[in-house]
Amino acid sequence: MVNLVLVSHSPSLAAGVAELARAMTQQSSIVIATSAGTGDPSNPLGTNPEDIQRAIEAAYSDDGVLVLMDLGSALIGAEMALESLPDDRRAKVRLCEAPMIEGAIAAAVQASLGGTLDQVMHEALGALAAKAIHLGHEVSAPTSMSIVAPTIGAQLLEIKIENRLGLHARPAALFVQTAARFKSDISIARASYEAKRVNAKSINAVASFGVRQNEVIRISADGSDAAEALSALKSLIEAKFGEDREPIEPARPIESKPIAPAVAGELIGIAASPGIVIGPAAPIRFAEPKIDRHAIDDPSAEWKRLDAALSAVRAATQQLRLNVARAANDYEAAIFDAHLMFLDDPELIEVARTAIYTERINAEAAWRTVIDRSVTAFEAIDDPYLRARAADVADIGRQVLSQLSGQVSRIVLPHAGILIAVDLAPSDTARLDRSKVLGICTERGGPTSHSAILARTLGIPAVVGLGASIMNVAAGASLIIDGQSGQVWIDPSADLIAQYTTRMKDWQSAREVTRQSSTSPAITRDGQSIEVVANIGSVTDARVAIENGADGVGLLRTEFLFLDRSTAPTEDEQYAAYRSIAEVMGQRPVIVRTLDVGGDKPLPYLDLGREENPFLGQRAIRLCLNRPELFKTQLRAILRASVGHNLKIMFPMIAEVSEVCRARELLNDSRAELKVKNIPVADLIEIGIMVEIPAAALLAEAIAPKIDFFSIGTNDLTQYTLAAERGNRNVAHLQDALHPAVLRQIQTTVRAAQVAGKWVGVCGELAGDPLAVPILIGLGVRELSMASASIPQAKQIIREWTQSDAAALAAKAVNLASAEAVRQLVS
Ligand code: PEP
Ligand code: MG
Repeated sequence: MVNLVLVSHSPSLAAGVAELARAMTQQSSIVIATSAGTGDPSNPLGTNPEDIQRAIEAAYSDDGVLVLMDLGSALIGAEMALESLPDDRRAKVRLCEAPMIEGAIAAAVQASLGGTLDQVMHEALGALAAKAIHLGHEVSAPTSMSIVAPTIGAQLLEIKIENRLGLHARPAALFVQTAARFKSDISIARASYEAKRVNAKSINAVASFGVRQNEVIRISADGSDAAEALSALKSLIEAKFGEDREPIEPARPIESKPIAPAVAGELIGIAASPGIVIGPAAPIRFAEPKIDRHAIDDPSAEWKRLDAALSAVRAATQQLRLNVARAANDYEAAIFDAHLMFLDDPELIEVARTAIYTERINAEAAWRTVIDRSVTAFEAIDDPYLRARAADVADIGRQVLSQLSGQVSRIVLPHAGILIAVDLAPSDTARLDRSKVLGICTERGGPTSHSAILARTLGIPAVVGLGASIMNVAAGASLIIDGQSGQVWIDPSADLIAQYTTRMKDWQSAREVTRQSSTSPAITRDGQSIEVVANIGSVTDARVAIENGADGVGLLRTEFLFLDRSTAPTEDEQYAAYRSIAEVMGQRPVIVRTLDVGGDKPLPYLDLGREENPFLGQRAIRLCLNRPELFKTQLRAILRASVGHNLKIMFPMIAEVSEVCRARELLNDSRAELKVKNIPVADLIEIGIMVEIPAAALLAEAIAPKIDFFSIGTNDLTQYTLAAERGNRNVAHLQDALHPAVLRQIQTTVRAAQVAGKWVGVCGELAGDPLAVPILIGLGVRELSMASASIPQAKQIIREWTQSDAAALAAKAVNLASAEAVRQLVS
């Protein structure tokens, strides 16, 4: 541990400061030695170099000693004492110019947390910032750009920044990442103005420094690997941070202000939810969490809370980066590096921590102050591009505040319009205010990404995977979106608006007609009855399902209860949610799918660790079997809600017979636990599995005796069969579930089920595809579960077919060679 020495003219001052610093470090074993006064009663105030040397020896640690002095002879005495130390010890002792009281407290806190000598020194030097922030005074430089001193003897490199946008977010992130790989102290200044030099390992400092194209910077590196550090930074700058290989495209924060004028014309994306809408563009905004400021008793507990929140947001951002890198490319994903850098920024974190320890305020208030100052610093920069980075800091800041306060960051739309976003987390989509969201356009996402599914559930027309240009549309610009063809028109002509207004009205009235007949059952012309049920995620969806004539619920995605929280919902919370859905559905069947998180639905509070391929990782039943308590809590809640209703339980992502057996065991245990407490449970509950991994389809014969029904999840079954990730627009052409390879697995499953006397449904998006409906019923599927908005049309299609014609069609389809050929056959 780094220890401290306090040198003062006054023994009582030194003792008082030491007492204060020790009080801040609580149980820490930090040594704070003092050297103060002359020892001469007639002239007590002064310093004595020999005594200072004694104090340094007393505090000596191989981790280092930081010496803080008051003034005048204290400095000279300390320098003399340093001179008289043996060489090896002298290297471990630093004299620090920080103000003694604030510096000692900040340094002691940092040392007690195990900081290195550099970190302790840095902390001491920044100690006045928190005081200035508290008093609302200007700090000599914004905290995100605190000035650092060049070190004598440091190695220097002068180099021109040639990137068109200067050291903006992405190069700044790469610069800081590279600098951080080296132990040396590294700082930058403009070659023309050495007085303003900032820490090169701080993203805030580097990005808000505002270096523009053709400016020459002077990089200083001091330490054992200084030469290597400068050479790495030189290569990076000479390679223009890799940007000359790519078109220069402004980095986009998740929550971005429009940074370019509205583009005109037509964009083609992926049709995700049918319908035509004409309306104003509404780029998304998130509501700020409400934060209060209050005094706290236990700063270390408060700091731990902030640290944990930073880690959780960091993990979620890393996962997002990984997903984007896979779905798009590494270059696009690099924007998240800037977000990660903000989260790791030593300047931001140190100021927040100092505020917690020295001002004894809650973590939320400390973090909010730091973020607000940083945002202000970015907003004050001349360069409009760099100014836009304020949104990155605000976004990351908001995520940490939401995590800390447990408040969900809600999307707010000031007026009704067509929502524009980079992508929407399933939980964001689930909480959309339907009355304001007329349509959805996203830059990323594929046809079966969860946000697309939810848009369909809510009956909101949507086009996804539109690419970067959609983010340049200004708020309020006029848009037409066609969720059937995937076309989006920006600032359309009056003629085009007139044309689409007619089509929109035709679509609305056709939908009304099918809706009216949707409450009657769907029976083929030769008398085969097919259950047409809904995929839902909430009680609101359940009501929408009834409005659309659903015969029940074929898939209740329970994971939406678990998302965007800081802890898992309790048994009672889950019970209340399942119960209210069951009540809306009355006696209609409701298939409750157990927790399916992981993949593209990470849960930071479960601490799943980083996975290179989360879709092939600890997802759904795999996670639940590894966390029996989490799983049984959910099972007990479902069992309790089953009383008086027709609930069925379904396990997702089954790959092996043993998983079914283990899941059933845990279900039996949960039932027994309730029984012991005399809590009622329905006697007969059907148990099924999702067939969404090819292994389950191929082993359907072995699984069938263990269950009551199969429900085929064509979204995942397609992604795993075709090895084409469902959210990845680059492989969207491979994500067609009408592929014969998928149809054959449905056929295998149905045959195995029929032998065992079980039934088969389909709950993937294919079930609601009008072209797929006859093929699925022809293959022997007896239940189709889909987005509520698709139910009326699906029922109408079923009524137009006979089972035998459909079977003949399906027999041909499975023998074709491509999804395209199947589509041609049906249409
Ligand atoms: C599926 O995979 O087809 C399915 C219905 O489950 P989810 O989309 O929730 O993964
Ligand atoms: Mg699935």
